Amino acid sequence: IRCFPTTTSPLAQKSEHTMSSIAAKNHRIPSIRARLAWLVAACLLPGIVIAALLLSYNYEQGRANVLRDSMATSRALLSAVDGEFVAAEISLRTLATSPLLSDNDIAGFHAQALEVLKRHSISNIVLIDASAQQVMNTRVPYGQPLPKATNTRQLERILATGQSDVSNLFIGPVLKKPLVNVAVPVYKGTTVTHSLVGVLLPDRFQKILDDQRFPKDRIAAIFDGASVIVGRTIDVDKFRGQSASKGLTDALAKNDEGWLETVTLEKIAVLTTYTRSAASHWGVAIGVPREALTADLRKSLWWFGGASTLLFGGSFLLAWFMGGRIARAVQQLIEPARDLAHGKTVRIPELGLREADEVGRALMQTSVVLEAANNELQVTNYARQSSEARMRGIVDSAMDAIITADGAQNIQLFNAAASAMFDCPVERAIGQPLYSFIPDGLIAQLANDVAERAENENTSGHPSLSTGLRTDGSRFPIEVSHSEVVESSTTIHTLIIRDVTRIQAYDALMRSNHDLQQFAFVASHDLKTPLRAISGFVQLLERNYAPKLDETALMLIRRTAGAAKRLEQLIDDLLSFAQLTSDAKPFELVSCRVVVDDAILLLDTAIADAGAMIEVDVLPAIMGDRAQLVQLFLNLIGNGIKYCSADKPVVRLAATKQQHDWLVTVSDNGIGIDEKHFESIFELFKRLHTQQEYAGTGIGLALCRRIVERHGGKLWINSILGKGSTFSITFPELASESAKS
Ligand code: ADP
Repeated sequence: IRCFPTTTSPLAQKSEHTMSSIAAKNHRIPSIRARLAWLVAACLLPGIVIAALLLSYNYEQGRANVLRDSMATSRALLSAVDGEFVAAEISLRTLATSPLLSDNDIAGFHAQALEVLKRHSISNIVLIDASAQQVMNTRVPYGQPLPKATNTRQLERILATGQSDVSNLFIGPVLKKPLVNVAVPVYKGTTVTHSLVGVLLPDRFQKILDDQRFPKDRIAAIFDGASVIVGRTIDVDKFRGQSASKGLTDALAKNDEGWLETVTLEKIAVLTTYTRSAASHWGVAIGVPREALTADLRKSLWWFGGASTLLFGGSFLLAWFMGGRIARAVQQLIEPARDLAHGKTVRIPELGLREADEVGRALMQTSVVLEAANNELQVTNYARQSSEARMRGIVDSAMDAIITADGAQNIQLFNAAASAMFDCPVERAIGQPLYSFIPDGLIAQLANDVAERAENENTSGHPSLSTGLRTDGSRFPIEVSHSEVVESSTTIHTLIIRDVTRIQAYDALMRSNHDLQQFAFVASHDLKTPLRAISGFVQLLERNYAPKLDETALMLIRRTAGAAKRLEQLIDDLLSFAQLTSDAKPFELVSCRVVVDDAILLLDTAIADAGAMIEVDVLPAIMGDRAQLVQLFLNLIGNGIKYCSADKPVVRLAATKQQHDWLVTVSDNGIGIDEKHFESIFELFKRLHTQQEYAGTGIGLALCRRIVERHGGKLWINSILGKGSTFSITFPELASESAKS
């Protein structure tokens, strides 16, 4: 993976800051898991609510069914109870019309009553007179004394109304146990004389209940007119004779039938239906324990609850798992997205989620595009930087002072040449007003320039003369070229300044140089003519007057001839040196081998005299001045032969290709030079030996260095005293390469 520079850009930092504030807000936004959980809840809840409503409806229906069945059973039971009373009443009414009674034959009536009892469920029959005295009782053998009736109220009703009557439960005076009376009036004419009573035992009513075969938990009861329990499906012995529960008593008092939720005497919560007979005022109630009624509902609720929990749990688990997968896929995109913000190339593996994969692919594509853009940017940056660097290099190395100033004429750029020219460090100059360096009328001048150039549609003006001011207060004439550019609505002035005194000094120097060359040329010519005359005269003197002259005179003549020859050599060398630039020829393609051969030819006599050997390796071709290059190698090879200590001087020339140039070496096995003289020997007239030791003028190496420098190269020496010296010359590769071609 290729990486972009990883330094965090301000933009990336800003985006990071924004992202962290978004992340802070995100804490309040529900996660994808939470949203999926909500979705599951939203999908399941309506179903569950509907199911719950159905369940509730089902329960209500079930309850209504139970109530309806229960009410029907209550009515059936009550009609059975009333049937008992009716049957008893019919038998009693038949018996009440017995002639035995009107005949006052009580003994016969007793027997007749006993006969009736055999066919009927009545326990015993009692005849009571108006004074409440039992006259006959089938339980007691006729003739035996009988007690008074205890249920006088019933008797009173019978006597008053002449209507049959059903009593409530009461303790009979003969049987001494709870019983019920059904009484009918006995008429004598139109007057009620007696009450004929049929005694019904509670067991009779209990049997009606038992015959119904109620489920075990069902609590059914038969009540008398005072809501006292006569029969009961559960614990009848315990509860018989007790009043019904308060709620039921009140309900029985108010309504003929209905239902209510109440609590039984044994504290069981029940749903009770009740019905009361309009004729006997007796009632029947059937209580269904709420426990039994809701058992089915509870069972259904358990099932429903379990199924809902399972459904919810399973769905939430699935949502959790799916949410986790989505969240993980999305989270796996976060790091690459951050990398992208930092300019890194991202690679995202398959995330197993189509949408996330699509986002991943889009991120990767973006990263590729960004990379390309970044590369382009880098190239542009590099180009800009290198162009800036080049520009800086030009500005810094410029011989002229370069100053830029803003619209307010405050200095923004001050190059090294300006610093030297105005004798002011760059840091001090930046920000200062231009007039502190160019005080005289420059502002007006610049304004003029701008106006003038606006007319001519030109952005740079002609150089104009002004005065420069150094920091020490001294003034000097300058030549100023001015141009300006407008950058983001700001004018930038650029001034290129020349120190006119320097130009003048240079011109003067050039002139004096030229004069000097002329002088050297003329002087050497003018000197050489008399010098040749002197040499000629001395030779004549020696030839013609030698026999007449003594040894001292002859020695003086020879020394004069030698001095004249040396002087002639000195003049020749000086002339070559002085004419180096004036006699210079345009560069041409020159083979070093050819110029070396020319030099060797010129040194022919010296080589032969010294018995020297010149070895030449392969040498390059270069661009240069042929005559000067011959001069160069002539001097170097000549010195190699001249400054020789060995019997046989060996001078070797070789060349090596270097990175940017050719290195040509001229080595000898001569006397060598002490390291301390390595630089001074290239100075004009510098010699390390006397004329007696080695003849010479001290101009040769100075001339060589100037020739090499003129060819754009360098010349230096390496030497070991007593062992030999190596002179190294470099020639620029450009020159040599183009020469080859
Ligand atoms: P000169 O005319 O004396 O040879 P040069 O300028 O050629 O003048 O040399 C300067 C001095 O450098 C010489 O006087 C000599 O002492 C020393 N020199 C030059 N070439 C050699 C060399 N190959 N070996 C030793 N010394 C040298």
